[in-house]
Amino acid sequence: MASNSPSRSYITTPLYYVNARPHLGHSYTTLLADVIARYRKQRGLQVTFLTGTDEHGEKIEQMAKSQNRDVREFVDEVSQDFRTTWEKMDLKFDIFYRTTDENHVKQVQHALQTLKDKGEIVFREYEGNYCVGCERFLTDNEVTATGLCPDHQKKPEPRKEANYFFLMSRYQQQLIDHYEKNSNAIRPEHYRQEVLSFLKQPLADLCISRPKTRLTWGIELPFDSHFVTYVWFDALLNYLVATGWSGPNWDKSLWETTNHLIAKDILKAHAIYWPTMLLALGAPLFSEIHASGYWLVDGTKMSKSLGNVIRPLEIEERFGRETPRFYLLREMSYGQDSTFTLEGYVNAINAYLANGIGNLASRVLTLCQKNFKGEFAPSSLIEIDHVVLAKRETTLTAWNHGFDELKYQNALKAWSELVTATDLYVNENKPWALAKDPAQAERLQTVLGVCLRLLQALAVIAYPVLPQASRALLAALGIEADPASSTSLALENRSLFHVSAEVPKLFLRVQLPVTEPAAP
Ligand SMILES: [Zn+2]
Repeated sequence: MASNSPSRSYITTPLYYVNARPHLGHSYTTLLADVIARYRKQRGLQVTFLTGTDEHGEKIEQMAKSQNRDVREFVDEVSQDFRTTWEKMDLKFDIFYRTTDENHVKQVQHALQTLKDKGEIVFREYEGNYCVGCERFLTDNEVTATGLCPDHQKKPEPRKEANYFFLMSRYQQQLIDHYEKNSNAIRPEHYRQEVLSFLKQPLADLCISRPKTRLTWGIELPFDSHFVTYVWFDALLNYLVATGWSGPNWDKSLWETTNHLIAKDILKAHAIYWPTMLLALGAPLFSEIHASGYWLVDGTKMSKSLGNVIRPLEIEERFGRETPRFYLLREMSYGQDSTFTLEGYVNAINAYLANGIGNLASRVLTLCQKNFKGEFAPSSLIEIDHVVLAKRETTLTAWNHGFDELKYQNALKAWSELVTATDLYVNENKPWALAKDPAQAERLQTVLGVCLRLLQALAVIAYPVLPQASRALLAALGIEADPASSTSLALENRSLFHVSAEVPKLFLRVQLPVTEPAAP
């Protein structure tokens, strides 16, 4: 490989299970993946971003049947709903993966046959407590003190079954060694510690089949037609298959850069099942897992039965383009649970977007239209100008640091501080007063020129989070360069600006509805 070829980056979201329509949790992970993809592309990386849908299993089959629907038709419809939602939210995935696609089915069967031939899969009689919601047997350690599934609050049913098992336990020590050696393999750090502490218990083997007597909506085992594949074993393989495994054109170097973005509820499947499958298949491990906490609504997890499901596409349509991207990244301390409230949403949009960058841009651009001659002389800069312009670089450094550390909140705080610093610069230098004094004509041009350089930096830095607003602001400054592929534009010391005649409305102030709107 040529040394000047760009570094690569493979970013994945989970494949979303098609038993629910896209809600806040799905949207957060997908829009974060989009933000990270844009961030990395802006820094010259060649990025591949995968998302998609997980479409097999008991819950899907039951749900389709309960609605008297053909299962295939049902999964097609929900999968399309996910795809359309992401497209409407301008999330630019490169691959939309579906586990019902023919090639996926073929590759899962190939993986199963490979592991069977290597002696990694065995047939065993098993008796245990089965949770339908989890679609698996729960061990005694996993149920609550009263014998309930902790996730579904239901008593698992006792079942006796002969099934195929993947000998996951063989890889326990190798997995521990890997996670001990690679401190970035699971981030943030407390999740790596959680997984390492889980691995102190003996690891059980993984039941990877379901008899067709109770489930037919799955991938048939290539070596026993009485069984279909356990949905997790099927779904996890998508990440690898999407890079061309096991064909002759497998893009192994892309695979090795993998960052899996997930929420903490599926940490075990990604941090334990998945790497042991890769080890058994002889494939390299993914590079990093990034795990987020949950979004809570009014302090509890969202659920259809509680009626507190938040759908970001609806929020975006109501409160403005790109507002969910800004709010969700700014509100969540990555790795911890966060609470979504409409009131907090409205306050954040008004404070940081409408009254923040929106008001600043409109104030400066309006002053420019009246007073700016298009050029300013950089030689006439004085101390106060240099001081504020230097903040562009410190903001960019803090922004990059936030992304490196998965502290997106800190990145956005640093950016908002540059908005505030620019506002302050305007207030202190009073261009409206300078405009009244002909002797201050040159100073007026300088002050407005400095403001435009700062707006340019704000637009370019914010691009990964607010791509459309970033482009609109640059267009208003008369800058044609594309913020998508470079950050040097943020620090450019331009002395010529062609401010557009029209001041763009970047973000509007929003209000909470006084009463709930009537149902349509
Ligand atoms: Zn359960």
